[in-house]
Amino acid sequence: MKCFNHADAEAIATCLGCGKGLCRTCCQTSDSGGVVCSPACKEKTQAEEEALALIRNRAMKGTRVSGILCIVAGLIFGLFGLFHLTQPQFFLPIVVFTVALGIGLIVAGAMYLRINKDRR
Ligand SMILES: [Zn+2]
Ligand SMILES: [Zn+2]
Repeated sequence: MKCFNHADAEAIATCLGCGKGLCRTCCQTSDSGGVVCSPACKEKTQAEEEALALIRNRAMKGTRVSGILCIVAGLIFGLFGLFHLTQPQFFLPIVVFTVALGIGLIVAGAMYLRINKDRR
């Protein structure tokens, strides 16, 4: 591919904003290190990156909420199982099932929270 502005120069990169081929002299770098052709394209890619960062932050917050919900649900199941155990005629499979489910949910919740911590 040739440079969009210089027909005789070989393009070494493409603009992140508009996709034009750019030669060495036409390349400009955006704040994030991407290649752009003009201040307008620089602004455009930055706006997109900011939008992406925002979505990513929201997604991470969502992960954290799911983690906490998992742990809370796990505690409820676990407590229900233990409470059932105190009943005069308890049914062991129910206790085993609810406690196992509770532990599984707590472990899953803890893993969610750990992923969230690692990425920050
Ligand atoms: Zn451009
Ligand atoms: Zn050029």
